[in-house]
Amino acid sequence: MIWVVATGIFFHYQEGQRLRDFPQALEGILSLDNVFLYDAFYPLKPSSAFDLEPVPTDIICRIHTPDMLERVERSGAFEGALLSASGTVGAAIRIWKGEITNAFVFTGYGDHHAGRDFFGGGCYFNGAAIAICELRRHFGAKRFAIIDTDAHHGDGTWDIFLDDPDVLYICFCPGNHQEKNNKVNIRVPWRVTDEEYLTLVRENFFPRAIVFQPEMIFWNWGYDGTQGDYGDIGLTPNCHAQLAQEIKGVADRVCQGRVSVVLCGGSRRNLARRLIPEIIQVLAG
Ligand SMILES: [Zn+2]
Ligand SMILES: [Zn+2]
Repeated sequence: MIWVVATGIFFHYQEGQRLRDFPQALEGILSLDNVFLYDAFYPLKPSSAFDLEPVPTDIICRIHTPDMLERVERSGAFEGALLSASGTVGAAIRIWKGEITNAFVFTGYGDHHAGRDFFGGGCYFNGAAIAICELRRHFGAKRFAIIDTDAHHGDGTWDIFLDDPDVLYICFCPGNHQEKNNKVNIRVPWRVTDEEYLTLVRENFFPRAIVFQPEMIFWNWGYDGTQGDYGDIGLTPNCHAQLAQEIKGVADRVCQGRVSVVLCGGSRRNLARRLIPEIIQVLAG
């Protein structure tokens, strides 16, 4: 089947170094007819832009405990955390409605270390989990897959979905192999080549996703495992666009191309500047 791909970019202005080059580094991409920018608080908003509102806290509390919400409120990262989750939720809803096919979500704070009642490691709210909850509540969606290629273990995502067999979560990290209730941890050696890593993903995510038949795929994408970044496992920058190509291929096959890429770990500004536009180019076809 052939369909026209539309890609959404979800962005909010934030402090910090790694995204300093954005959205300027998206020049040439934002002008594509099938790419749409949804943002919050960006002062030089192009006329085609769409708005993002912070996620209401009652929605946050469907995934996280009220006590945790209060702790995040006191953390100093509250607004950024709300807008990060907002991007992920907004992307998922627009994909579900068919307004866009796929999305790249710029987060200020990632997802996967945020559990029901704990957070850390630069994560405050689990945006993918909140998005899944919203799609189920409003649209009757049921089955989701999350692939996690950040260098670290997604303990928060694992915690939230452990008892939920309708979420397939495949985490690639140095932790030991575990498999429970469609939650799978695939052990990645401390040093790998791109080809070894891609083979692990091909052999462990793709067949499971095809059998599982998710209605949408979330990709918790970190680049911290790239050479020279803080989770360096030996990957080169070339690995990420290839991963994007193949994960998009799986999404095309199982769920009409519906995939949302959620930015997770990685700190180097030069890597962000190169890799994020490359991934978005792949998404936009
Ligand atoms: Zn990480
Ligand atoms: Zn893991």
